[in-house]
Amino acid sequence: MRPPPPLLLTMLVLAAARPGCEPAWDPEGACSRSVAADSATCVDLQLQTCSDVTYNRTAFPTLLQHRTRAAVESSSEYILLSVLHHLLEGQCNPDLRLLGCAVLAPRCEGGRVRRPCRHVCGALREACQPAFDAIDMAWPYFLDCGRYFSGPEEGCYDPLEKLRGGLDIEEALPSGYPPTFIQFTHHSYAQMVRVLRRTAARCAHISKTYSIGRSFDGRDLLVIEFSSRPGQHELMEPEVKLIGNIHGNEVAGREMLIYLAQYLCSEYLLGNPRIQRLLNTTRIHLLPSMNPDGYEVAAAEGAGYNGWTSGRQNAQNLDLNRNFPDLTSEYYRLASVRGVRSDHIAIPQHYWWGKVAPETKAVMKWMRAIPFVLSASLHGGDLVVSYPFDFSKHPQEEKMFSPTPDEKMFKLLARAYADVHPMMMDRSENRCGGNFLKRGSIINGADWYSFTGGMSDFNYLHSNCFEITVELGCVKFPPEEALYTIWQHNKEPLLNFVEMVHRGIKGMVMDKFGKPVKNARILVKGIRHAITTAPDGDYWRLLPPGAHIVIAQAPGYSRVIKKVIIPSRMKRAGRVDFILQPLRTGPQKFLPGSRRGGLGGEPQEPDQEPLGARRQPTTGGSKPWWWSYFTSLGQHQPRWLLKY
Ligand SMILES: [Zn+2]
Repeated sequence: MRPPPPLLLTMLVLAAARPGCEPAWDPEGACSRSVAADSATCVDLQLQTCSDVTYNRTAFPTLLQHRTRAAVESSSEYILLSVLHHLLEGQCNPDLRLLGCAVLAPRCEGGRVRRPCRHVCGALREACQPAFDAIDMAWPYFLDCGRYFSGPEEGCYDPLEKLRGGLDIEEALPSGYPPTFIQFTHHSYAQMVRVLRRTAARCAHISKTYSIGRSFDGRDLLVIEFSSRPGQHELMEPEVKLIGNIHGNEVAGREMLIYLAQYLCSEYLLGNPRIQRLLNTTRIHLLPSMNPDGYEVAAAEGAGYNGWTSGRQNAQNLDLNRNFPDLTSEYYRLASVRGVRSDHIAIPQHYWWGKVAPETKAVMKWMRAIPFVLSASLHGGDLVVSYPFDFSKHPQEEKMFSPTPDEKMFKLLARAYADVHPMMMDRSENRCGGNFLKRGSIINGADWYSFTGGMSDFNYLHSNCFEITVELGCVKFPPEEALYTIWQHNKEPLLNFVEMVHRGIKGMVMDKFGKPVKNARILVKGIRHAITTAPDGDYWRLLPPGAHIVIAQAPGYSRVIKKVIIPSRMKRAGRVDFILQPLRTGPQKFLPGSRRGGLGGEPQEPDQEPLGARRQPTTGGSKPWWWSYFTSLGQHQPRWLLKY
């Protein structure tokens, strides 16, 4: 047992006191700092929670006036840092913990205490404040950027330098430490392959890499997948793909997916409940680079020097996002004819007479092999999320709103990304992508500019997959220093978007003997776009909230109709199964509501905890749920974390 905590300064004291000119205290401007003022005796840093900082010597008293290691360890500030990862469900970590450690265990070097940089604190506060707001926690006082941090002119250092790739992480990391660290650098082809393979090896029970084919120059198009059973489709588990770098010179998406792979792996291992839930219920495939050959051309010119177009195309000079079969023209023709099917349109013969890039072929083959439900293609050059159709309904019109029958759902999908992206939500007109401000940073592709042969239109018209296009920012090949911030801005949007695959309904279509019916059609009244069942008879139908009439049908069977109600918030798709009767055995069945035999008609959420349940303000003076982490602290509970 540790001795009881020595006299701790409570927040009240901390907030109220402005002690003379105690050197280590020094609210900004109150004291003039001198080298002598920060002089200290350096000792070995021995705090478990801070064991992965980039330095190994610290000093007492700390910036919070803790005089011993025991005093630090029993402080509420230290306990907060130790549990922050769980409280914020992995958000802002390890960044925030490292920042806090820089205050709780200040860096000591050559008999001087060094303070962390104020601008690093400021940037992190901006990125992380929403995570605190979401759990109704006040910003911790000891991360007050004005008070405990200093400027470069005062010799501050960046406590997050290791996250930015300033050091060789492999060497800096103590062995056996969980692989929380992502190097926010550009990755050459060889480095990308190495990181993906290493990540899959670390998370071998939930991850695997595979190649979907080769680029024109022979580079493997490497995918990393995450799933509770990597390598196989699980019944009713929806599949998502994220594709980066289809234009070789638009590189941010490639890096985001490399980081996302490492993030998913380490968060899963660390027990992040959100990531565990996601990977246990979803199969996620990441293709960081669809155009590795183009990337090499762009990378040779280097970040900041890369022109608008070099490296955009593949090695055959084909623009991969113009190289898919144009099914949209065919769709417009079919859609004008009553009663004709306009989904799962076949690839016309003449398409194969033209030049088809091996990268395009590989993606089409991939789409045939896996029943994808949801997809995003990551680009750069602007800041907006666009959704199909990309090809205008009037070939002569370059900008014309051309919605799919699933317009409502596509808008929700685009919003799921844009609404949680801090830059896309930025209200200033002169920002990157400012002309999409009034539209909430989302736009119908053809309404932006029309083009044919795009990947998103092809996904929607040839398969069951709904794909959106994300423009990650105005710089196509951002400088390395920008990558960390781009990741901070896109991590939540990527996760939020992938989670959208659980919106709507899913289930099985079977015959009366329980045998799965593949290629059965799932139709929704008012949406002229059928979804088909996968080989195992399972299906997923993304649907916006509201009441829907759903019909299942297959050749040789009578139709089954059900009414479903989709709630506005849902964590997993409602299960709706259909049992088809052979034709001529009876009249059509109309089965509103639930059906006997345990096959629910309405997707009820058994544990319908609204997504925002943890985010509601506490009322009536009761403490928030996370308060229990601190109750053992007796009188030293961190009341400074309470907002109310
Ligand atoms: Zn692009």
